[in-house]
Amino acid sequence: MKKFIFILDALKANQLGLIQLNMSEKVHAVNVIPPFSFEPDASYLCGLHPEESNAGLKYWKTKNVNNSKIFHLLQILPNRPRIVRKIINKILKKTPLPSLKKYKNNYACIPFKMLKYFELSNESELFQKSSGSMPSTIFDSIQGDYCYMGVPYTSGQLDYIKTNLTQDKLKQYNTFFIYISDLDNTGHKYGGISAEYDTKLTEIIHYIKSVVTSFDKEEQVNYIIFGDHGMVNVKKYINLERILKKLPLQIEKDYIYFLDSTMARFWFYNEKAEKLIYHALAELEGGSWINDEDKTQYKIRYNHNKFGDAIWWVNDESIISPNFWQCEKKIKGMHGYRKNVNENHTCVISNQKLYNSTDTIEMIELNQILETFLKN
Ligand SMILES: [Zn+2]
Repeated sequence: MKKFIFILDALKANQLGLIQLNMSEKVHAVNVIPPFSFEPDASYLCGLHPEESNAGLKYWKTKNVNNSKIFHLLQILPNRPRIVRKIINKILKKTPLPSLKKYKNNYACIPFKMLKYFELSNESELFQKSSGSMPSTIFDSIQGDYCYMGVPYTSGQLDYIKTNLTQDKLKQYNTFFIYISDLDNTGHKYGGISAEYDTKLTEIIHYIKSVVTSFDKEEQVNYIIFGDHGMVNVKKYINLERILKKLPLQIEKDYIYFLDSTMARFWFYNEKAEKLIYHALAELEGGSWINDEDKTQYKIRYNHNKFGDAIWWVNDESIISPNFWQCEKKIKGMHGYRKNVNENHTCVISNQKLYNSTDTIEMIELNQILETFLKN
């Protein structure tokens, strides 16, 4: 028996019709609500909530602020425009500096002045069988060897997969894990509701179909396709920097902040900063502060403040711009929204009946579905 797990980065839930049509066989499908924010891997790979796995945002505040000279020197470099920053990032990539090693070249548009306060949050790589202190993953359920292709180990671009998932590999292995990244790029560029997104999805599904139907009739082929989140069309760009600059506060002295695409995170150094920023953003249309009820609902009661003392979260169809990821670029699609935003939902599809197709499930439930799929 051959088993295939396909992860499509940014597969939207409401594209089920299109997928069903293209697979041209009976498939079972269900809507999936992604967990909090941008790091959903631990929920489907390990069955862990954000507060149990420390998943949340890609960057968090470091305990050890590095005050070495290099950080002072970097401050003289411009952070924008994006094109300039990209060139600087490229130069930094070619200049191995020990103090910058921990960023693994993921500088994005984090202002050079702020860089020293942050570090990458995810230490362990979950796309493998567990070892040491690592939590157990779905890969532990696989008997024997398996073939893994795509993100995070190699480019997950469809062209790469097409070239490298050879007939020999398809014969050699029985279990395949293929992580395709194209939809996310297309969605950010053109929006989740766009002809370009649909065309790319159709191309991917055609490829998946060609793979799962490439075996002899006697060979049983089971497959499961799912996404890690959806893709929302962005209509509103919120300039938080402009609002923060107007406040009688000083960055580094009174507070520090990190602007993700859909969240603004703050660490306050005094009560005045906390009060002023809280009020300024509470009044702002287009988002709201994460409160205790949200923390319980999203399972983000972390036992530390590394993701922020307080987090302000945008509403549907909005993005913080400029931010530390896209700089000033006004992209058309984004994910990382609240549970009530349907376009942010993803889905799971299989030729096996692994779930009740009428339900909407939370992403953490996918973990059990994948375990069952791999064990049966
Ligand atoms: Zn994305």
